[in-house]
Amino acid sequence: MMDMTKREKAIQKAFKERMDETELLNCMRCGFCLPACPTYIETGFDETQSPRGRIALMKAVHDGLISPDDDVERSLNLCLGCRACEPVCPAGVQYGHLLEEARDIFNEYNRHSLPVKTVRKTVFEGVFPHQNRMEKTIGLLSFYQRSGLQKAVRKIGFMKLFPENLRQMEKVLPEVPSRKEMKNRPMKLPANTNQVKSKVAFFSGCLMDTMFMETNDATLKLLQKAGCEIVIPEGQNCCGALHGHSGEKDKAMELAKKNIDAFEDTGADYIIVNAGGCGAFLIDYGHLLKDDPEYADRAKAFAGKMKDISEILYELDFHQQVPLSIKNQTITYQDSCHLRNVMKTFLAPRALITAIKGAEFKEMDKADSCCGSAGIYNIIEPEMSMRILDHKMEKVVETKAHTIVTANPGCLLQMKLGIEREGLSDRVRAVHIVDLLLEACN
Ligand code: SF4
Ligand code: SF4
Repeated sequence: MMDMTKREKAIQKAFKERMDETELLNCMRCGFCLPACPTYIETGFDETQSPRGRIALMKAVHDGLISPDDDVERSLNLCLGCRACEPVCPAGVQYGHLLEEARDIFNEYNRHSLPVKTVRKTVFEGVFPHQNRMEKTIGLLSFYQRSGLQKAVRKIGFMKLFPENLRQMEKVLPEVPSRKEMKNRPMKLPANTNQVKSKVAFFSGCLMDTMFMETNDATLKLLQKAGCEIVIPEGQNCCGALHGHSGEKDKAMELAKKNIDAFEDTGADYIIVNAGGCGAFLIDYGHLLKDDPEYADRAKAFAGKMKDISEILYELDFHQQVPLSIKNQTITYQDSCHLRNVMKTFLAPRALITAIKGAEFKEMDKADSCCGSAGIYNIIEPEMSMRILDHKMEKVVETKAHTIVTANPGCLLQMKLGIEREGLSDRVRAVHIVDLLLEACN
């Protein structure tokens, strides 16, 4: 019998009780997923940093063959959670579900230091679940940007105290709205067409409705132009993706239930989202709440209505009905991993961009591969994230694009960071697809 610490024994027991053995057994070790995995490639083909290797480690811990030691935890932590391994898997292994459960178990028996615990508690419990506190936090950032404080901080070199990636991130943050500007939205908006083509409910998101408020405004305008009557339910909150991916499953479930309550009686045909990371988590509520007798069926119904903004615009023929034109430029598209691999949306954004007069669409090599943003991965795993980003930027440069389009706030910031790192800010920009489409409408 191998030696295990008390903590390792508790983790092993939890793996035995909670990990889905059938899903673990579904992996037939074929290796088809290996070429799709960025961490496998970036580590020089280290099997423990591949989907197959990670599943083998989870299975071995489940079976009590190895102890859940630091190496196992490190392998799971270095995973981007991009889920690029899922669409290429012939056995249909739901890797993302295995990863989330394993991380949740490790987090339950975490050894975080007091400062890390405090930061996690503040972010996961204190800020993100409460929209008014999100607004206050972004309001403080707005004050920092507009009051001259940002200029002063940069001038005295204060930012040099921070790691390079955080310094660069600070440079590329968008100019955020003030608290006053984060006005209360109307709960309903009419279609801007003679005929209502669809009744939709809008998932406004926590970060999207504060830091990226202009993109939310653009989304609503496009939906109206496309013929959608819109309802924006009160009581909705953060989707819970950040919590679910960081081992805070209970909190994610709590947030999911509140969202289901908020959207249930809207009578909408679809629930529209404009952030790939949120959409992929929302569409997975059926799995998240599968064991909850009160919410299991309601979660499935909620998930069945999810649709990304590009998908609905494409389905409603927005690009054929509304004239779209832009000053001549080359445009490329970086997939949001979760939008592509989980929501299966990748043709619609390309078709919409291609329909813009003056835009020359240039497909990027490996556009479907993660940019290294992956939620907060670029903050907690900066070295791997920047390696992936630098390789991504080589592909961007090959396209000679003036504009990089994305469909998720994390990818958008990461692309801006890549532009800054490559010194391309005088000739390349990164934009969210709805902002590009609205620009093309004017
Ligand atoms: S492709 Fe699927 S079945 Fe094959 S090794 Fe990867 S996870 Fe396992
Ligand atoms: S989620 Fe992404 S990084 Fe993680 S194993 Fe799958 S392909 Fe690799």
